[in-house]
Amino acid sequence: MSVQKNTLKEYIHIIKHLQDNGVIFCRVKDFLTHSHRRVCYLRHDVDEDIECAYDMAVAEHNLGIHSTYYILTTDTAKTWFEEPERKKSGLKMIQEMQSMGHEIGLHYDVFGDWFWGSVKNPDDHIKEALGFFRENGVSIETCSAHGSSRMLKVLAYREKIPYETRVLLKNQLIWSDAPEPPSKIMIRDKTLYSHSLKKEDYGIKLEAYHLQSFLGGKYISDVRSPSDKGRVDLACASGMDMEKFVRELGTHQQKTAKKGRNLIRTSDVSSASQLSGVFKNIPEGTGVQMSIHPHHWRKKNNMKHKRRVDSFGVHFAATFYDRFYINKGFKYDRKKMTAMLKKHTNLFDESYRNYTLLDVGCGDGFWSHILAEHYTVRAEDPSMGGIMVGSCNDEEKKVEWVCGKSDTMFTKHDVTFSRCPSFFNRKIDETFQTSFDRIWERTNKIMVVIMASSPPFDRNTGSSYMHCPEKLEKFCSQYGKTNLRHEIGYIWVEIQKEE
Ligand SMILES: [Zn+2]
Repeated sequence: MSVQKNTLKEYIHIIKHLQDNGVIFCRVKDFLTHSHRRVCYLRHDVDEDIECAYDMAVAEHNLGIHSTYYILTTDTAKTWFEEPERKKSGLKMIQEMQSMGHEIGLHYDVFGDWFWGSVKNPDDHIKEALGFFRENGVSIETCSAHGSSRMLKVLAYREKIPYETRVLLKNQLIWSDAPEPPSKIMIRDKTLYSHSLKKEDYGIKLEAYHLQSFLGGKYISDVRSPSDKGRVDLACASGMDMEKFVRELGTHQQKTAKKGRNLIRTSDVSSASQLSGVFKNIPEGTGVQMSIHPHHWRKKNNMKHKRRVDSFGVHFAATFYDRFYINKGFKYDRKKMTAMLKKHTNLFDESYRNYTLLDVGCGDGFWSHILAEHYTVRAEDPSMGGIMVGSCNDEEKKVEWVCGKSDTMFTKHDVTFSRCPSFFNRKIDETFQTSFDRIWERTNKIMVVIMASSPPFDRNTGSSYMHCPEKLEKFCSQYGKTNLRHEIGYIWVEIQKEE
């Protein structure tokens, strides 16, 4: 049986039923002015798809309901926010949603921006997003923390992050008035202090997660169904620890459901009436917060959305490197180069056979093809042209080809092979070291670096930086046992990772 996705129609059916049963919906910011709080604060975290949020906003408006839409502009929302045409039409939709009476708020990911992204200050992205919306007439008074998919990635790959740190990686802890105790969070070379931003400085009056500590009442959220992948259930919990509740539902849905938490199947005909039962006994002076993700209610094969995406297309412009690799690249001679690798490195040592190897900045994969005779190879390069050429020449699919920057990815390999990617083609400075650290972290046993260099050293020629062998040796020796030779105009480095 094929899985039926939830639909906007189902959502509206539920909302309408609640409305008919006397539930009063309002926006999160209405909490600031309400004296009578026996209401449902309806909020939407718009993680990725502004178009389906818009459809939901229109449908709610037609029922006379106004809620809060928290708009993310980073992480998963980049698909529309960094695509010029979609951004333009997205902004129009947001302005329209506001004029319907909905509240627009900020959905933010400070932790993801800081630990995973490339912002200079932790709050850069927030400032930028708030500036963009406010300049365009969208007023923002409240915010809600995003459960960052980028941070989940960091957590998944960096098993070394202690549990005590993991539980601190919640975006809402960045605000000075978060109820939890303050902490200092360190991951790799980056540090972030929780409670370090003041909402007032950003014109923010309320964080939706903190709202729960005022309400103390029930919380409803649409969560992935434990029994039916592809669908969501409406889950309901009491009490203040909403964050814990969401986390548990996300990770141990089955168990949680068994523990008797109130999971309401949205596919059930009775779901709406079950839900209205939740609202019956709300004590005076409290309220229910209901969090809905519009994209959960979008049909996967929603043609309307698909057409929108198709009509914008995917922008592509070839870079210098794309052209270079497609036009035959360095034109190396395979036999000669294989012999050279064998002579000047230990890469073809029998004991290394079947190790995994990462080709860092593989270009058109010239070296990957050679190394695949000895290793299980993953080849990475930011040039789509390079990766395409590499993959086209690899009909047997011996190599795994990945388009992206090696100093931003996380998989680990026994050997890393760097034939001077651009981030090493520069003097030894902070940037050099940051990239070096990242490649070192991805290395299980041996890091191999090869770079062209001839005296005088410490200078830029047209396209290459001439590293000084002594300085490089000193630098590498900080990491592990280093074997560096300067032969035939190349620096050959092998660094062993101590067990
Ligand atoms: Zn989110």
